[in-house]
Amino acid sequence: MIVAIDGPAASGKGTIARRLAAHYGLPHLDTGLLYRATARSLVDEGGALDDAGRAVAAARGLALTDFDEARLRGREMGEAASVVAAIPEVRAALAEMQRRFADHPGGAVLDGRDIGTVIAPDARIKIFVTASPETRAQRRALELRGRGEHVDYAEILADIRKRDERDSHRSAAPLRAAPDAHILDTTDLDIEAAFGAALAIVEKARG
Ligand code: C5P
Repeated sequence: MIVAIDGPAASGKGTIARRLAAHYGLPHLDTGLLYRATARSLVDEGGALDDAGRAVAAARGLALTDFDEARLRGREMGEAASVVAAIPEVRAALAEMQRRFADHPGGAVLDGRDIGTVIAPDARIKIFVTASPETRAQRRALELRGRGEHVDYAEILADIRKRDERDSHRSAAPLRAAPDAHILDTTDLDIEAAFGAALAIVEKARG
């Protein structure tokens, strides 16, 4: 059973994906981390984020163990990841790794922007998680403050809008719901309610 969870930044998709994976005993991949880790390599090398050749080399050099760094989840890497993610060759280099993960016997849960549309279009269950930009900015500001970053709500809201715009309008795998995805709007839901709604979608789809 492949569960594809897509949606914009801070929609709740990561938490929902993690909790569904724990509930069903499936492995989980947060695919945003692949783009964030690729961006981190470029930033550390001092290269331009839109240097396709270097970005592809960084993407190919990733190992799934490169990820346990608090820095990857910070504000700077989210923005940088969205720039490298618009390079089609970077997406191609990372697609292979994601498809291998999705092929795990027994299934897997993947969350990102293009799981249901490009990486696993045949996934049995697709959920597109969304929420208003203001709600997502509030959540992201709380999360970043919890990790010790000094952030301003208005700046985070501007980041979110910019990232939505870039992710939705790029030519390679733009952020959009697959036609067969269930839409889950978490604007007025806390995490328990959002998880409950996602679980109900999965249970219904499993028949
Ligand atoms: O989900 P997260 O905020 O970690 O993603 C960071 C950036 O990586 C996104 O803004 C998006 O540009 C890119 N991304 C993507 N495709 C994915 C996952 C993330 O383009 N499957």
